[in-house]
Amino acid sequence: MNGPGPGAEAPIAATPQRVAELRAALTATRDRIAAAAHESGRDAGELTLVVVTKFFPVQDLLALAGLGVTDVGENRHQEAQAKAAQIPAEVRANLRMHFIGQLQSNKAAAVAGYADVVQSLDRAKVAAGLGRAAESAGRTLEVTAQVDLAGDDAGRGGVSPQELPRLLDTIADTRGLHLRGLMAVAPLGGDPAEAFERLAVLREQTVAQHPHATWMSAGMSGDLEQAVRSGATHLRVGSAILGSRPAQR
Ligand SMILES: *Cc1c(COP(=O)(O)O)cnc(C)c1O
Repeated sequence: MNGPGPGAEAPIAATPQRVAELRAALTATRDRIAAAAHESGRDAGELTLVVVTKFFPVQDLLALAGLGVTDVGENRHQEAQAKAAQIPAEVRANLRMHFIGQLQSNKAAAVAGYADVVQSLDRAKVAAGLGRAAESAGRTLEVTAQVDLAGDDAGRGGVSPQELPRLLDTIADTRGLHLRGLMAVAPLGGDPAEAFERLAVLREQTVAQHPHATWMSAGMSGDLEQAVRSGATHLRVGSAILGSRPAQR
């Protein structure tokens, strides 16, 4: 048997009703993405859906993997680490785990132990710690720099557009990290289309300096259409697929 080791509890599977619910919501989301891609003359095949499973149990994550989800996102280190430990190896082998939350430098080493992608890197200091940890674990992490599109320092994280080029150079020069592009969250209360257009300009400037850094991770449950229109490559969708979360941070 390939199950969890001694002492680890095998996760209880999601109920058939929950699986049916997730399947329907996943299909509806994929339909939205396909429609938005079609409208903007893009190939839906070039879009990666990252299903954000934060606040939901590992059973949901496993059910989603069973429904063909290849990329999942988590934003809280402890929760992500605990879930990662409960994913059977044969499922894990076909799943990319994206860390999308605020990253403290004292947690960077631990995140490097389970994440495949870190989308939310926004400080050079954290890049160094993350790279060191990845290297000593014999891994390479794919990384996007998180950009602050609000410019009001509201604590949602992200490097300012002014400081972005320097951070990108740092990531590109850090062993253990592979710079892939940019990530951003549309500012609360603003026009997401306008914000994503600014991100698209930054992405163009980024690719000019770092030709492999082509990813643009933008768009969530409420604004994925605008993100697809602006050229996003990665969509991070949580509540539209899993349902509304209990009390947000
Ligand atoms: C929670 C979260 C998402 C998903 O948000 P939904 O509105 O539930 O789709 C996307 N990106 C980040 C950084 C998040 O923290």
